[in-house]
Amino acid sequence: MSRISFDHIPQAAADPILGLSEAFLRDARSPKANLGIGIYQDDTGKVPLLPSVAQAEQALVQRQLAKPYLPITGYEPFNEQMQQLLFGADHPVRREKRVMTMQTVAGSGALRVAGDFLSFAFPGATIHLSDPSWENHRAIFEQSGLKTATYPYFDQASRQLRFDAMLAAFESLPSGSLVLLHACCHNPTGVDPTKEQWDTLAGVIARRGLFPFVDCAYQGFGESLADDAYAIRAIAATGIPMIVAASCSKNFGLYRDRIGSLSFVAPDEASLARITSQLKRIVRANYSSPPAQGALIVTEILTNASLRAQWEAELTEMRDRIKTQRKALTEALNAADLGQDFSFILSHRGMFTYTGFSEAVVDTLRTEHGVYLV
Ligand code: PMP
Repeated sequence: MSRISFDHIPQAAADPILGLSEAFLRDARSPKANLGIGIYQDDTGKVPLLPSVAQAEQALVQRQLAKPYLPITGYEPFNEQMQQLLFGADHPVRREKRVMTMQTVAGSGALRVAGDFLSFAFPGATIHLSDPSWENHRAIFEQSGLKTATYPYFDQASRQLRFDAMLAAFESLPSGSLVLLHACCHNPTGVDPTKEQWDTLAGVIARRGLFPFVDCAYQGFGESLADDAYAIRAIAATGIPMIVAASCSKNFGLYRDRIGSLSFVAPDEASLARITSQLKRIVRANYSSPPAQGALIVTEILTNASLRAQWEAELTEMRDRIKTQRKALTEALNAADLGQDFSFILSHRGMFTYTGFSEAVVDTLRTEHGVYLV
């Protein structure tokens, strides 16, 4: 008989978004729509298996690869491809050998490994998140031992960026402060800085000695693969250290293969080697080495010219469909004469839009129409 009591363990708060999804699954009505989760669905409401991914997997099966462990930093050809995708093949930080990229357990894993590193390198440091941000940013960084704070980002009235307030906040943060930025398709608002605004932000971040951490979970869902990496490339071009977490969940539709990467730009090659040794120590003590399948699929696609062209076309199709949906939603809402202009939805990018609907409206949509919103 066990003497160990678990009576002192309180019930953890349920994740509100996953809770909403569970309620959606229990809902027997048809049609119904779950708009609360960041997963791309096609016209039939299904998460598509990209044909390029299916083809890559076929090729891998035929090659009958054995399954030894990957290195702690993952599959090297994948790391190289991801670095090129994020920074561009001829970015100065690559020539200067100041950047390393390692495979991680998706974007979340990259955030956590980096969070553990930052907490080790700068004990008790605070990371500044946009207000609002993806809720798991706070959870992951706090679990790593960092403190979190917010900087102004979203204007509730105009549903646009509070650029001046954001800039003023960055001007007043102490030098060395960690700032988390969304590379593109901001979650949950859909509001991104323009290229000119990124240039200004990059300048302020560099001049003020802030430490930028860019989370890139939707590359290719906004404007294009290159445009969506603009912030990463512009900030890296200032010559300062930075961190980039990237996810292949959405742009390759590889959600459950848990594939992503963590890139570190260091001041010089020598510090990069020491930083890498610590990142490896952290991974070793967490999950030892990452799983291979997602990395093999992504590498197969990115290194085969025709497969890559096909994937880029499929990605464009997903992006265009999101834009078409935005337009249809905006036109339908504006036509409904609700006493409000919904054109702001068109200026948002990626999978999200902050509607600004009241709690009562969100409740009505769910209870009366089976439309689930956070
Ligand atoms: N960052 C942001 C902003 C996200 O929206 C997500 C996915 N919802 C992630 C990171 C992580 O996704 P994954 O762990 O599936 O790569």
